[in-house]
Amino acid sequence: MRANYLVFGQPRIEQPEIDEVLACMRSAWLGTGPKAAEFERRVAAYKGVPHAVGLNSCTAGLHLACVVLGLKPGDEVITTPMTFCATVNAIVHAGAKPVLADVDPVTMNIDPEQVRRKITPHTKALLPVHFAGRACDMDALMAIAREHRLKVIEDCAHAIETEYRGKKAGTIGDLGCFSFYSTKNIVTGEGGMVLTRDEQLAKRVKRMGLHGMSADAWKRFTDDGYKHYDVEEIGFKYNMMDLQAAIGLHQITRIESYWQRRQEIWQRYLREFADLPLGLPAAWPADERHALHLFTVQVDKSRCGLGRDDLLMRLHRQNIGTGVHYRSIASMSVYQQRFGWRPTDFPNALAIGEQTLSLPLSARLSDDDVSDVIAAVRSAVRR
Ligand SMILES: *Cc1c(COP(=O)(O)O)cnc(C)c1O
Repeated sequence: MRANYLVFGQPRIEQPEIDEVLACMRSAWLGTGPKAAEFERRVAAYKGVPHAVGLNSCTAGLHLACVVLGLKPGDEVITTPMTFCATVNAIVHAGAKPVLADVDPVTMNIDPEQVRRKITPHTKALLPVHFAGRACDMDALMAIAREHRLKVIEDCAHAIETEYRGKKAGTIGDLGCFSFYSTKNIVTGEGGMVLTRDEQLAKRVKRMGLHGMSADAWKRFTDDGYKHYDVEEIGFKYNMMDLQAAIGLHQITRIESYWQRRQEIWQRYLREFADLPLGLPAAWPADERHALHLFTVQVDKSRCGLGRDDLLMRLHRQNIGTGVHYRSIASMSVYQQRFGWRPTDFPNALAIGEQTLSLPLSARLSDDDVSDVIAAVRSAVRR
Protein backbone atom coordinates (compact mmCIF):
# COMPACT_ATOMS: atom_id res chain seq x y z
CA MET A 1 0.00 0.00 0.00
CA ARG A 2 1.23 3.55 -0.73
CA ALA A 3 2.78 5.34 2.22
CA ASN A 4 0.96 8.69 1.95
CA TYR A 5 -2.63 9.56 1.10
CA LEU A 6 -3.27 10.50 -2.54
CA VAL A 7 -5.60 13.48 -2.16
CA PHE A 8 -8.13 13.65 -5.01
CA GLY A 9 -7.82 16.57 -7.40
CA GLN A 10 -4.74 18.29 -6.00
CA PRO A 11 -3.33 20.85 -8.42
CA ARG A 12 0.19 21.11 -9.78
CA ILE A 13 1.78 24.33 -8.48
CA GLU A 14 5.17 25.37 -9.88
CA GLN A 15 7.88 27.87 -8.99
CA PRO A 16 6.86 30.75 -11.33
CA GLU A 17 3.42 31.12 -9.69
CA ILE A 18 4.99 30.87 -6.23
CA ASP A 19 7.40 33.67 -7.18
CA GLU A 20 4.58 35.74 -8.70
CA VAL A 21 2.47 35.44 -5.54
CA LEU A 22 5.47 36.61 -3.50
CA ALA A 23 6.02 39.53 -5.90
CA CYS A 24 2.35 40.40 -5.52
CA MET A 25 2.67 40.32 -1.71
CA ARG A 26 5.78 42.54 -1.87
CA SER A 27 4.05 45.01 -4.19
CA ALA A 28 1.29 45.26 -1.56
CA TRP A 29 -1.29 45.32 -4.36
CA LEU A 30 -3.35 42.29 -3.41
CA GLY A 31 -6.77 43.17 -4.79
CA THR A 32 -8.08 43.55 -8.33
CA GLY A 33 -5.41 45.22 -10.43
CA PRO A 34 -2.92 44.76 -13.27
CA LYS A 35 -2.42 41.01 -12.76
CA ALA A 36 -6.16 40.30 -12.84
CA ALA A 37 -6.43 42.37 -16.04
CA GLU A 38 -3.50 40.49 -17.61
CA PHE A 39 -4.99 37.10 -16.67
CA GLU A 40 -8.31 38.16 -18.24
CA ARG A 41 -6.47 39.07 -21.48
CA ARG A 42 -4.63 35.75 -21.55
CA VAL A 43 -7.71 33.62 -20.98
CA ALA A 44 -9.67 35.65 -23.58
CA ALA A 45 -6.81 35.15 -26.07
CA TYR A 46 -6.65 31.42 -25.34
CA LYS A 47 -10.39 31.08 -25.97
CA GLY A 48 -10.45 33.54 -28.88
CA VAL A 49 -13.11 35.87 -27.44
CA PRO A 50 -12.87 39.64 -27.00
CA HIS A 51 -14.19 39.90 -23.43
CA ALA A 52 -13.35 38.18 -20.15
CA VAL A 53 -14.18 39.21 -16.59
CA GLY A 54 -12.19 37.67 -13.74
CA LEU A 55 -14.22 36.74 -10.66
CA ASN A 56 -13.74 35.02 -7.34
CA SER A 57 -15.50 31.83 -8.51
CA CYS A 58 -17.37 30.17 -11.33
CA THR A 59 -20.40 30.14 -9.04
CA ALA A 60 -20.25 33.96 -9.02
CA GLY A 61 -19.94 33.86 -12.82
CA LEU A 62 -23.00 31.66 -13.20
CA HIS A 63 -24.97 33.95 -10.90
CA LEU A 64 -23.89 37.11 -12.77
CA ALA A 65 -24.60 35.45 -16.12
CA CYS A 66 -28.18 34.81 -14.99
CA VAL A 67 -28.44 38.37 -13.63
CA VAL A 68 -27.13 40.16 -16.73
CA LEU A 69 -29.45 38.18 -19.00
CA GLY A 70 -32.25 39.86 -17.08
CA LEU A 71 -33.92 36.72 -15.74
CA LYS A 72 -36.98 37.55 -13.65
CA PRO A 73 -39.09 35.65 -11.12
CA GLY A 74 -41.16 33.09 -12.98
CA ASP A 75 -38.59 32.72 -15.78
CA GLU A 76 -37.39 29.16 -16.27
CA VAL A 77 -33.86 28.00 -16.99
CA ILE A 78 -33.32 24.44 -18.18
CA THR A 79 -30.21 22.70 -16.87
CA THR A 80 -28.83 19.26 -16.12
CA PRO A 81 -29.18 17.08 -12.99
CA MET A 82 -25.61 15.81 -13.60
CA THR A 83 -23.79 18.83 -12.17
CA PHE A 84 -22.51 20.51 -9.06
CA CYS A 85 -25.16 22.27 -6.97
CA ALA A 86 -23.68 25.69 -7.83
CA THR A 87 -25.18 25.50 -11.33
CA VAL A 88 -28.70 25.21 -9.95
CA ASN A 89 -28.16 27.58 -7.03
CA ALA A 90 -27.04 30.36 -9.40
CA ILE A 91 -30.38 30.18 -11.21
CA VAL A 92 -32.27 30.32 -7.91
CA HIS A 93 -30.20 33.25 -6.57
CA ALA A 94 -30.96 35.20 -9.75
CA GLY A 95 -34.65 34.77 -8.92
CA ALA A 96 -35.46 32.35 -11.74
CA LYS A 97 -36.75 28.79 -11.60
CA PRO A 98 -34.45 25.87 -12.44
CA VAL A 99 -35.92 23.10 -14.59
CA LEU A 100 -34.04 19.83 -15.06
CA ALA A 101 -33.75 17.84 -18.29
CA ASP A 102 -32.23 14.37 -17.98
CA VAL A 103 -28.84 13.47 -19.43
CA ASP A 104 -27.81 11.13 -22.21
CA PRO A 105 -26.56 7.93 -20.52
CA VAL A 106 -23.47 7.71 -22.77
CA THR A 107 -22.23 11.33 -22.94
CA MET A 108 -23.66 12.16 -19.48
CA ASN A 109 -24.50 15.58 -20.94
CA ILE A 110 -27.95 17.19 -21.09
CA ASP A 111 -30.06 15.47 -23.75
CA PRO A 112 -31.49 17.96 -26.30
CA GLU A 113 -34.60 15.77 -26.73
CA GLN A 114 -35.28 15.97 -22.99
CA VAL A 115 -34.72 19.75 -23.17
CA ARG A 116 -37.42 20.07 -25.85
CA ARG A 117 -39.91 18.32 -23.57
CA LYS A 118 -39.25 20.81 -20.77
CA ILE A 119 -39.81 23.99 -22.76
CA THR A 120 -42.77 26.10 -21.67
CA PRO A 121 -43.82 29.67 -22.47
CA HIS A 122 -41.75 30.67 -19.37
CA THR A 123 -38.47 29.16 -20.58
CA LYS A 124 -35.88 31.92 -21.02
CA ALA A 125 -32.50 30.23 -21.02
CA LEU A 126 -30.54 26.99 -21.26
CA LEU A 127 -27.64 26.25 -18.93
CA PRO A 128 -25.74 23.22 -20.28
CA VAL A 129 -22.69 21.82 -18.44
CA HIS A 130 -19.87 20.26 -20.47
CA PHE A 131 -19.64 17.35 -18.07
CA ALA A 132 -16.14 16.03 -17.26
CA GLY A 133 -14.88 18.15 -20.18
CA ARG A 134 -16.93 16.45 -22.88
CA ALA A 135 -18.70 18.93 -25.15
CA CYS A 136 -22.50 19.07 -25.03
CA ASP A 137 -24.42 18.65 -28.29
CA MET A 138 -24.23 22.40 -28.87
CA ASP A 139 -25.62 22.36 -32.43
CA ALA A 140 -28.85 20.78 -31.18
CA LEU A 141 -29.01 23.04 -28.10
CA MET A 142 -28.35 26.22 -30.10
CA ALA A 143 -31.02 25.18 -32.62
CA ILE A 144 -33.53 24.84 -29.76
CA ALA A 145 -32.38 28.22 -28.39
CA ARG A 146 -32.90 29.92 -31.77
CA GLU A 147 -36.28 28.32 -32.27
CA HIS A 148 -37.56 29.43 -28.86
CA ARG A 149 -35.48 32.65 -28.50
CA LEU A 150 -33.61 31.39 -25.46
CA LYS A 151 -30.33 32.65 -24.05
CA VAL A 152 -27.55 30.12 -23.49
CA ILE A 153 -25.08 30.08 -20.59
CA GLU A 154 -22.36 27.41 -20.81
CA ASP A 155 -21.04 26.01 -17.52
CA CYS A 156 -17.42 25.39 -18.51
CA ALA A 157 -16.08 24.57 -15.04
CA HIS A 158 -14.70 21.30 -16.47
CA ALA A 159 -14.22 22.51 -19.98
CA ILE A 160 -11.51 25.13 -20.44
CA GLU A 161 -9.81 23.08 -23.21
CA THR A 162 -13.06 21.71 -24.69
CA GLU A 163 -13.77 22.25 -28.39
CA TYR A 164 -16.85 21.37 -30.39
CA ARG A 165 -16.85 21.23 -34.21
CA GLY A 166 -14.20 23.93 -34.53
CA LYS A 167 -15.68 26.12 -31.79
CA LYS A 168 -14.36 26.62 -28.28
CA ALA A 169 -16.61 25.74 -25.35
CA GLY A 170 -17.85 28.84 -23.59
CA THR A 171 -17.86 30.91 -26.79
CA ILE A 172 -20.85 29.21 -28.45
CA GLY A 173 -23.68 30.46 -26.23
CA ASP A 174 -24.15 34.00 -24.92
CA LEU A 175 -21.85 33.61 -21.91
CA GLY A 176 -19.33 30.97 -20.77
CA CYS A 177 -18.45 30.49 -17.09
CA PHE A 178 -15.08 29.03 -16.07
CA SER A 179 -13.66 27.83 -12.75
CA PHE A 180 -10.12 27.98 -11.40
CA TYR A 181 -11.02 26.20 -8.18
CA SER A 182 -8.20 24.06 -6.74
CA THR A 183 -9.36 20.82 -8.37
CA LYS A 184 -9.96 22.20 -11.89
CA ASN A 185 -7.69 21.89 -14.93
CA ILE A 186 -5.91 25.17 -14.19
CA VAL A 187 -6.22 26.82 -10.81
CA THR A 188 -6.06 30.06 -8.84
CA GLY A 189 -7.23 28.50 -5.53
CA GLU A 190 -10.65 30.06 -5.71
CA GLY A 191 -11.42 31.87 -8.93
CA GLY A 192 -13.60 32.08 -11.98
CA MET A 193 -14.17 33.97 -15.20
CA VAL A 194 -17.01 34.89 -17.52
CA LEU A 195 -16.30 35.03 -21.26
CA THR A 196 -18.52 36.60 -23.89
CA ARG A 197 -18.48 38.04 -27.39
CA ASP A 198 -20.95 40.74 -26.29
CA GLU A 199 -19.30 43.91 -25.02
CA GLN A 200 -22.43 45.15 -23.25
CA LEU A 201 -22.88 41.86 -21.38
CA ALA A 202 -19.18 41.93 -20.39
CA LYS A 203 -19.47 45.47 -19.05
CA ARG A 204 -22.51 44.55 -17.05
CA VAL A 205 -20.85 41.41 -15.61
CA LYS A 206 -17.89 43.57 -14.58
CA ARG A 207 -20.06 46.23 -12.97
CA MET A 208 -22.39 43.80 -11.19
CA GLY A 209 -19.36 41.85 -9.96
CA LEU A 210 -18.08 44.98 -8.18
CA HIS A 211 -21.04 46.45 -6.30
CA GLY A 212 -22.61 47.98 -9.44
CA MET A 213 -19.98 50.74 -9.36
CA SER A 214 -19.06 52.75 -12.43
CA ALA A 215 -15.28 52.20 -12.25
CA ASP A 216 -13.26 49.53 -10.49
CA ALA A 217 -11.20 50.20 -7.40
CA TRP A 218 -7.97 49.65 -9.29
CA LYS A 219 -8.71 52.66 -11.48
CA ARG A 220 -9.85 54.68 -8.47
CA PHE A 221 -6.63 54.22 -6.51
CA THR A 222 -3.90 54.33 -9.17
CA ASP A 223 -1.49 57.23 -9.41
CA ASP A 224 -4.01 58.93 -11.70
CA GLY A 225 -5.44 60.19 -8.43
CA TYR A 226 -8.78 59.76 -6.74
CA LYS A 227 -11.92 59.86 -8.84
CA HIS A 228 -15.52 59.92 -7.67
CA TYR A 229 -17.60 56.94 -8.68
CA ASP A 230 -21.26 56.40 -9.18
CA VAL A 231 -23.26 53.34 -8.11
CA GLU A 232 -25.36 52.50 -11.12
CA GLU A 233 -26.88 49.19 -10.01
CA ILE A 234 -27.16 47.11 -6.85
CA GLY A 235 -24.31 44.67 -7.43
CA PHE A 236 -22.28 41.99 -5.71
CA LYS A 237 -18.67 41.59 -4.49
CA TYR A 238 -17.30 38.96 -6.85
CA ASN A 239 -14.05 40.43 -8.22
CA MET A 240 -10.84 38.43 -8.71
CA MET A 241 -7.77 39.45 -6.68
CA ASP A 242 -4.31 39.96 -8.17
CA LEU A 243 -3.13 37.36 -5.66
CA GLN A 244 -5.34 34.82 -7.43
CA ALA A 245 -4.42 36.02 -10.92
CA ALA A 246 -0.71 35.73 -10.00
CA ILE A 247 -1.22 31.95 -9.89
CA GLY A 248 -3.45 31.78 -12.97
CA LEU A 249 -1.07 33.82 -15.16
CA HIS A 250 1.47 30.99 -15.01
CA GLN A 251 -1.00 28.11 -14.92
CA ILE A 252 -2.45 29.17 -18.27
CA THR A 253 0.95 28.96 -19.96
CA ARG A 254 0.96 25.22 -19.07
CA ILE A 255 -2.62 24.45 -20.01
CA GLU A 256 -1.48 22.33 -22.96
CA SER A 257 1.25 20.38 -21.15
CA TYR A 258 -1.13 19.64 -18.27
CA TRP A 259 -3.74 18.43 -20.77
CA GLN A 260 -1.10 16.18 -22.39
CA ARG A 261 -0.22 14.74 -19.00
CA ARG A 262 -3.90 13.99 -18.24
CA GLN A 263 -4.21 12.45 -21.70
CA GLU A 264 -1.34 10.02 -20.86
CA ILE A 265 -3.03 9.08 -17.58
CA TRP A 266 -6.42 8.74 -19.32
CA GLN A 267 -4.98 6.38 -21.97
CA ARG A 268 -3.20 4.34 -19.33
CA TYR A 269 -6.42 3.90 -17.34
CA LEU A 270 -8.30 2.88 -20.49
CA ARG A 271 -5.67 0.22 -21.30
CA GLU A 272 -5.31 -1.08 -17.76
CA PHE A 273 -9.04 -1.31 -17.05
CA ALA A 274 -10.12 -2.68 -20.44
CA ASP A 275 -10.56 -6.23 -19.08
CA LEU A 276 -12.44 -5.18 -15.92
CA PRO A 277 -16.26 -5.18 -15.68
CA LEU A 278 -16.24 -1.40 -15.06
CA GLY A 279 -18.02 1.10 -17.28
CA LEU A 280 -15.33 3.37 -18.78
CA PRO A 281 -15.70 6.89 -20.23
CA ALA A 282 -17.21 6.79 -23.72
CA ALA A 283 -15.16 7.76 -26.76
CA TRP A 284 -16.02 11.13 -28.31
CA PRO A 285 -16.35 12.30 -31.93
CA ALA A 286 -13.17 13.20 -33.84
CA ASP A 287 -14.37 16.79 -34.32
CA GLU A 288 -14.45 17.43 -30.58
CA ARG A 289 -11.75 18.03 -28.03
CA HIS A 290 -12.35 16.62 -24.57
CA ALA A 291 -10.91 18.63 -21.68
CA LEU A 292 -10.20 15.40 -19.74
CA HIS A 293 -11.23 16.87 -16.41
CA LEU A 294 -12.77 13.77 -14.80
CA PHE A 295 -12.09 10.09 -15.46
CA THR A 296 -15.28 8.47 -14.23
CA VAL A 297 -15.88 4.72 -13.97
CA GLN A 298 -19.32 3.20 -13.55
CA VAL A 299 -19.50 0.51 -10.88
CA ASP A 300 -22.45 -1.83 -11.43
CA LYS A 301 -22.70 -4.11 -8.40
CA SER A 302 -24.14 -7.02 -10.36
CA ARG A 303 -21.17 -6.97 -12.76
CA CYS A 304 -18.34 -5.92 -10.41
CA GLY A 305 -19.27 -7.82 -7.28
CA LEU A 306 -19.11 -4.57 -5.33
CA GLY A 307 -20.94 -1.27 -5.42
CA ARG A 308 -19.59 2.21 -6.00
CA ASP A 309 -19.40 3.06 -2.31
CA ASP A 310 -17.62 -0.26 -1.63
CA LEU A 311 -14.98 0.55 -4.25
CA LEU A 312 -14.66 4.10 -2.90
CA MET A 313 -14.04 2.72 0.64
CA ARG A 314 -11.55 0.11 -0.55
CA LEU A 315 -9.56 2.71 -2.45
CA HIS A 316 -9.70 4.99 0.57
CA ARG A 317 -8.27 2.20 2.73
CA GLN A 318 -5.50 1.86 0.13
CA ASN A 319 -4.70 5.57 0.68
CA ILE A 320 -6.31 6.65 -2.58
CA GLY A 321 -8.79 9.51 -2.56
CA THR A 322 -11.55 9.53 -5.18
CA GLY A 323 -14.54 11.73 -5.96
CA VAL A 324 -18.22 11.33 -6.87
CA HIS A 325 -19.33 13.55 -9.77
CA TYR A 326 -22.21 13.67 -9.19
CA ARG A 327 -25.12 12.25 -7.30
CA SER A 328 -28.11 13.57 -9.24
CA ILE A 329 -29.23 17.08 -8.30
CA ALA A 330 -32.72 15.59 -7.89
CA SER A 331 -31.37 13.40 -5.05
CA MET A 332 -30.65 16.48 -2.89
CA SER A 333 -33.26 17.21 -0.24
CA VAL A 334 -33.59 20.97 -0.61
CA TYR A 335 -34.49 20.79 -4.29
CA GLN A 336 -36.96 17.99 -3.65
CA GLN A 337 -38.69 20.16 -1.04
CA ARG A 338 -38.55 23.36 -3.08
CA PHE A 339 -39.26 22.11 -6.61
CA GLY A 340 -40.91 18.73 -6.00
CA TRP A 341 -38.27 16.87 -8.01
CA ARG A 342 -38.03 13.12 -7.58
CA PRO A 343 -34.81 11.26 -8.43
CA THR A 344 -36.77 8.79 -10.57
CA ASP A 345 -37.95 11.67 -12.80
CA PHE A 346 -34.38 11.72 -14.17
CA PRO A 347 -33.52 8.03 -14.43
CA ASN A 348 -30.27 8.40 -16.40
CA ALA A 349 -28.82 10.92 -13.92
CA LEU A 350 -30.04 8.76 -11.05
CA ALA A 351 -28.31 5.64 -12.43
CA ILE A 352 -25.04 7.48 -13.09
CA GLY A 353 -25.20 9.14 -9.67
CA GLU A 354 -25.47 5.76 -7.93
CA GLN A 355 -22.66 4.09 -9.88
CA THR A 356 -20.10 6.74 -10.77
CA LEU A 357 -16.65 7.14 -9.24
CA SER A 358 -13.99 9.65 -10.32
CA LEU A 359 -10.39 8.42 -10.23
CA PRO A 360 -7.44 10.77 -9.71
CA LEU A 361 -6.53 12.54 -12.99
CA SER A 362 -4.55 15.63 -12.01
CA ALA A 363 -1.44 16.67 -13.96
CA ARG A 364 0.26 16.54 -10.56
CA LEU A 365 0.18 12.72 -10.49
CA SER A 366 3.47 10.86 -10.94
CA ASP A 367 3.67 7.60 -12.89
CA ASP A 368 3.94 5.82 -9.54
CA ASP A 369 0.77 7.52 -8.27
CA VAL A 370 -1.07 6.31 -11.37
CA SER A 371 0.34 2.79 -10.89
CA ASP A 372 -0.94 2.81 -7.31
CA VAL A 373 -4.45 3.76 -8.47
CA ILE A 374 -4.42 1.05 -11.14
CA ALA A 375 -3.17 -1.64 -8.74
CA ALA A 376 -5.75 -0.71 -6.10
CA VAL A 377 -8.65 -0.69 -8.59
CA ARG A 378 -7.54 -3.99 -10.15
CA SER A 379 -7.25 -5.73 -6.81
CA ALA A 380 -10.70 -4.50 -5.71
CA VAL A 381 -12.74 -5.30 -8.83
CA ARG A 382 -13.56 -8.91 -9.71
CA ARG A 383 -12.40 -9.96 -13.17
C1 LIG B 1 -16.60 23.49 -9.73
C2 LIG B 1 -17.88 23.69 -10.46
C3 LIG B 1 -18.63 24.86 -10.35
C4 LIG B 1 -18.29 25.93 -9.36
O1 LIG B 1 -17.02 26.45 -9.53
P1 LIG B 1 -16.42 27.38 -8.37
O2 LIG B 1 -15.30 28.09 -9.07
O3 LIG B 1 -15.95 26.46 -7.29
O4 LIG B 1 -17.48 28.30 -7.92
C5 LIG B 1 -19.75 25.01 -11.13
N1 LIG B 1 -20.14 24.05 -11.97
C6 LIG B 1 -19.47 22.89 -12.09
C7 LIG B 1 -19.94 21.86 -13.07
C8 LIG B 1 -18.33 22.66 -11.32
O5 LIG B 1 -17.67 21.50 -11.41
